[in-house]
Amino acid sequence: MPSEFELIARYFALPCQAAGQGVVLGPGDDCALLSPSPGSTLAVSVDTSVAEVHFPGDAPATAIGHRALAVALSDLAAMGARARWCVMAITLPAVDETWLEAFSAGFHTLCRRSGVALVGGDVTRGALSVAVTVHGEVPVDAALRRDGGRPGDVLAVTGTLGGGRGGLDAWQAGLRDLDDPLLRAYLLPEPRLAAGEALRDLAHAGIDVSDGLLADLAHLCQASGTGAVLDTTALPLTAGLTGRLGEADAIDAALRGGDDYELLVALPQSSLDRARQRLAARDLALTPIGHLTATPGITGVPASSRPSGWQHFPGGMT
Ligand code: ADP
Ligand code: MG
Repeated sequence: MPSEFELIARYFALPCQAAGQGVVLGPGDDCALLSPSPGSTLAVSVDTSVAEVHFPGDAPATAIGHRALAVALSDLAAMGARARWCVMAITLPAVDETWLEAFSAGFHTLCRRSGVALVGGDVTRGALSVAVTVHGEVPVDAALRRDGGRPGDVLAVTGTLGGGRGGLDAWQAGLRDLDDPLLRAYLLPEPRLAAGEALRDLAHAGIDVSDGLLADLAHLCQASGTGAVLDTTALPLTAGLTGRLGEADAIDAALRGGDDYELLVALPQSSLDRARQRLAARDLALTPIGHLTATPGITGVPASSRPSGWQHFPGGMT
């Protein structure tokens, strides 16, 4: 049985990962030492992924590693930040080296692809969970915040919606093929980092769709002091969603299902074509789905019997 330090060296703190730009000192000491680029503001966020709450515990370990990092990076994407570093605290029920190898491959592959260095972390024993803190950089005063939306702005979303709930449904029905677009969207979401950077200077406001489009749009509207009108016929649905759920539930999944990790931006109509061209150059769609209004409230949406947005403590924590 390897010691905790052997595990860290073997699966987490890989030497190649410590060599990221701006890393004065990587894993191994009490803290990592990082040098942010001059003229930049640090963007910092943490996300905890708990087995059976955020992902199925028996999902492929590569997907669990990928997903834990992807959902954290999605917040950097939503600010238009460039991803630089991360730290990862993992809680494991047992040491299973086959599982750890696959988890590590999923995590580190996305690290490399996103230009992120894993600079530290923690390993503990308990129910499976992974907490990832990400650090990004954005030029001073250039971050894409939630509070900059203005009445008349077009609302547009990257990629497709509904895959989070559709993939969960597919997983629960026994589907295990990760090439399926719904399962991919659910278990292997792609953080829209390049899109966030490309839209940063064109959009007035942005947020990532983690809790469901309506819930996240409500956050953007509240921060911006606006309302919104949505055109539900314009929603870009993930391939296979309507076939799996039927038309009404597919739209409900796009509006209220969580875990899509696409970007929702509010931008002036005059910038829409340029924004779409920039994302098309990265093989990513940007679809207009409505606009912001001066009148508060979100209209144009069919009612649902399901609650909107996931909350761990819907009645409050006390
Ligand atoms: P400490 O007791 O000082 O907190 P640890 O024993 O937890 O140190 O970790 C030893 C070193 O290994 C630290 O530099 C830490 O950042 C690194 N490390 C621990 N767990 C991880 C992990 N999951 N990923 C990356 N680095 C890790
Ligand atoms: Mg520690």
